[in-house]
Amino acid sequence: MRAPEILDRLHEAYGDGVVELDWETPWELLVATILSAQSTDKKVNELTPYLFRKYPDPAAVLATPEEELERDIYQTGFYRQKSQALRGVSAALLEHHDGQVPTSMAELIALPGVARKTANVVLGAAAPGAHAADPEAGIAVDTHVKRLARRLGFTTETDPNKIERDLMRLFPKERWPRASLVIILHGRRVCEAQRPRCADCVLEDLCPSSLAAGCRDKARQAKEMGT
Ligand code: SF4
Repeated sequence: MRAPEILDRLHEAYGDGVVELDWETPWELLVATILSAQSTDKKVNELTPYLFRKYPDPAAVLATPEEELERDIYQTGFYRQKSQALRGVSAALLEHHDGQVPTSMAELIALPGVARKTANVVLGAAAPGAHAADPEAGIAVDTHVKRLARRLGFTTETDPNKIERDLMRLFPKERWPRASLVIILHGRRVCEAQRPRCADCVLEDLCPSSLAAGCRDKARQAKEMGT
């Protein structure tokens, strides 16, 4: 089977993978994941030591004037939307979860502004046992997973939820959290959006988009065809 072989090779290359955001508690991971949208983990990691000290819990977010929070997270981009997301999440955590980050998909995706990607990241990394036991848990699909899933021929979809569904069919559940992590690392280090380094890729002989083999990039091809 091609899909498990691909995952095995990625694990050989990247071990278990790693969440490249710095965090120690579920709250910190949730905050960092929200801030990482349209930003880089490096930029977020530069800011979070200060942010985690100043905002150790949801109450600290709500106790801070909105403009001050916006200034604090400005460097991560989209600071107004992210400030609103942090305030919305904080209010919901205080109202429904005693200020704690819940450990079920249903509760996580019920938080304002938290989509399946963020919920899967938080659950998979901060509560792997809960992720394994939760029938609604899945695979975190970020921009790298989306691109690689299409290039590797795992999906023809563009909607993250449909891509997630296709990936869930290909891999056993116990591999889901780590699968996402190693695919993301491969997307960052080898299969980059603009310049996939196919000649250096451990998946080259299994990839239907290998430029080294003279194939067309399936992700771009699908985009051109509007699929
Ligand atoms: S062969 Fe090229 S397109 Fe395929 S996964 Fe590797 S780097 Fe990406």
